[in-house]
Amino acid sequence: MPFQPPRHPATINTVEIDGMARTLFRPMGADGVYARTAAYETVIEKLAQLISSYRDPEAEILRFPPVMSRHQLEKSGYLKSFPNLLGCVCALHGSEAEINGAVARHDAGGDWTTSLTPADLVLSPAACYPVYPIAAERGPVPEAGYVFDIAADVFRHEPSKEIDRFQSFRMREYVCIGSPDQVASFRNRWMERATTIADLLEVPYQMEQASDPFFGRMGQMKAVAQLQAALKFELLIPVRSNEKQTACMSFNYHKEHFGTVWDMKLASGELAHSGCVAFGMDRLAVALFAVHGLDTAKWPDGVRNALSL
Ligand code: AMP
Ligand code: ZN
Repeated sequence: MPFQPPRHPATINTVEIDGMARTLFRPMGADGVYARTAAYETVIEKLAQLISSYRDPEAEILRFPPVMSRHQLEKSGYLKSFPNLLGCVCALHGSEAEINGAVARHDAGGDWTTSLTPADLVLSPAACYPVYPIAAERGPVPEAGYVFDIAADVFRHEPSKEIDRFQSFRMREYVCIGSPDQVASFRNRWMERATTIADLLEVPYQMEQASDPFFGRMGQMKAVAQLQAALKFELLIPVRSNEKQTACMSFNYHKEHFGTVWDMKLASGELAHSGCVAFGMDRLAVALFAVHGLDTAKWPDGVRNALSL
């Protein structure tokens, strides 16, 4: 993918970023967790509609809650790659006396959380994990493969004051399950569509090969292998600076990973491959405000048309 020179020089300074956060969000007492204003939510909704307008006609639409089965995520291997980012649901599981004891401790100024134990749920760290067991349960993948349109509120434990890094954010994804060729053509198709969408939104961008932030020293080796096999691309937009651009969409090839985990096979008996394109909805919205300004009425006509604003 050729380098796209920025058409809008991004010269956003810290003061502007702070002003932007104050206009778009209201604080909720935790970094990266915000109440969203009406103007911001309108842009999120319009962006979602624009992304839907490019949906493959055969796509099956599913919307997931913000939590998923802990067992399913463990089985997917998440703890091997990103244990530091995972949030787990905990609850007071004890007897009435034990639960009352925890509350009494809190009332006395003590710590009730020492009585918490893990529930069988985690906060979903990406939208697509629950879709593979759903597909696998149906038996062999049909000849044409599957395309899913999915979305979820996701959580990643990476508190930050940066405007483009949330702990709780919206992720929209298209997921393809099928043969290696089907997944490759799905990903190519979506990398093209994504640049069309970025052009319509009149934001500067670059499409780059990328790696995931795998945890720990072993993780660095995984990142190198991921780069070597070109398993991940990202569409980057200069939100905070031109030097450190922000990944707003990602294009991932999982090879047969989920096929193996869920024993998901093609009609031929070979393991199913999968890939996904993920849209960071909150990052895309923040990028639009960063590039075009805080007043959507003053955004370029082309952008307003594309978003039906
Ligand atoms: P990933 O699975 O890491 O490729 O994430 C998918 C998409 O989610 C990325 O392309 C980003 O747009 C978005 N994203 C990832 N992490 C964050 C975060 N901490 N805050 C906001 N958006 C994020
Ligand atoms: Zn995914």
